[in-house]
Amino acid sequence: MAESTQSLEVVTPQRKVFRDDVEFVVVPGAEGELGFLPRHAPLVSTLKIGEIRVIHEGKRYKGFLAGGFVEVRDSRVTVFTRAAERAEEIDRARAEAAKERAEKRLAARTPDIDVARAEFALKRALTRLKISESIKQ
Ligand code: ATP
Repeated sequence: MAESTQSLEVVTPQRKVFRDDVEFVVVPGAEGELGFLPRHAPLVSTLKIGEIRVIHEGKRYKGFLAGGFVEVRDSRVTVFTRAAERAEEIDRARAEAAKERAEKRLAARTPDIDVARAEFALKRALTRLKISESIKQ
């Protein structure tokens, strides 16, 4: 690994979404965005639902993170999350459907509805749509 890069790994229970050496990474920390350059001080933080941005070989990339944790140590950034996709992998129709389901549940508010669960599902769907929209040509 060159002096100007750090390793980034994004891990979900299903798959390794990303693993490479990158120049810069920004993740959605619980208290605000966290940006990491190589040799960042060791850190562990929780993440909220949001966008991950990366500079890899001089190019900018972004993706979706469904919250989780980040650990930084020895120029290695590791993200653990329940779900992540590169921006171009986001299925907009699926996110639209998830958004509508969550909105219907929140509008109905029948006793069997888990409001917090529906709110998180809505937040995931809206964030996926926003990220996908932002890379449209
Ligand atoms: P859904 O109700 O559509 O499953 P969700 O927000 O509940 O949405 P997650 O639990 O965040 O889904 O993710 C489950 C799996 O499906 C993960 O592997 C995630 O990457 C994938 N996934 C979910 N929504 C999308 C999407 N719109 N585009 C691509 N992959 C998706």
